Amino acid sequence: MHFTTLASGSSGNAILVGENNRHLLVDCGISGKSLLHNLSQIHLSCSDIEGIVVTHEHVDHIRGVGILARKLKIPIYATAGLWNVMSHSLGKIEEGQRIEVQESFSCAGMDVLLYPTSHDSRESYGLKVSRPKQKNKRDLAVGIATDSGMITEEMHRHLQGCDAFVVEANYDDERLQNGPYPAYLKRRIRGKYGHLENKQLAEGLLEWIKENTQRVVLAHLSQENNTPEIALATVLRILQDSKRSKEYSKLPVDVAPRHFPHELIRLME
Ligand SMILES: [Zn+2]
Ligand SMILES: [Zn+2]
Repeated sequence: MHFTTLASGSSGNAILVGENNRHLLVDCGISGKSLLHNLSQIHLSCSDIEGIVVTHEHVDHIRGVGILARKLKIPIYATAGLWNVMSHSLGKIEEGQRIEVQESFSCAGMDVLLYPTSHDSRESYGLKVSRPKQKNKRDLAVGIATDSGMITEEMHRHLQGCDAFVVEANYDDERLQNGPYPAYLKRRIRGKYGHLENKQLAEGLLEWIKENTQRVVLAHLSQENNTPEIALATVLRILQDSKRSKEYSKLPVDVAPRHFPHELIRLME
């Protein structure tokens, strides 16, 4: 099983998860053209993507969804509530490409579980993408959580023990407080329906990382209120100051690039 981010941040998000040569895309918040370009940079082609799962209707997650689905003739997976609010933004979607999902479903041969996050959209979800159970093979799962103003009960429940994480470290509170954003926007971001602060995320990771965890990618960083260096230093400091610091010291943690793909990360079997 493998995964990567193709773009990450408020200018657009897309995460790719695959097993063998079958892949699903989580959101497409960049243009279809940029998505295909970024895919080619990691030596994958459009024919490798079998479906797009949508986490919520904000434009940084759905900008390219409609056009990409039409171009690749692949289905879009979203809840009924999300279909209601995003249909008009996607353009014409053929009936067969419009898949209404509940909390768990299968896409590109993988099991997808949606759990609610706490965000100011009509609905918003994090995901756990697992490969189906196979005899003599370890279970593997990638936990995804972006766009949440707080760590929810469901996040704790579903993200514990994932083999890899793509998780939001959106802002540094000091930088946000002292930054140029108007007060209402600061309140929105810091509120419980906004985004995760670096330290908040690190506290979550302390609960979710288990012995089997192989990788952590920090995602959806704010351009104004965070930097890759601050996010990484904050998260690493909290992991290293914890009781299990020895365990964490070997765990690779890095930051998803904003405009280009992260290297493809292959999970050890
Ligand atoms: Zn959002
Ligand atoms: Zn977002």
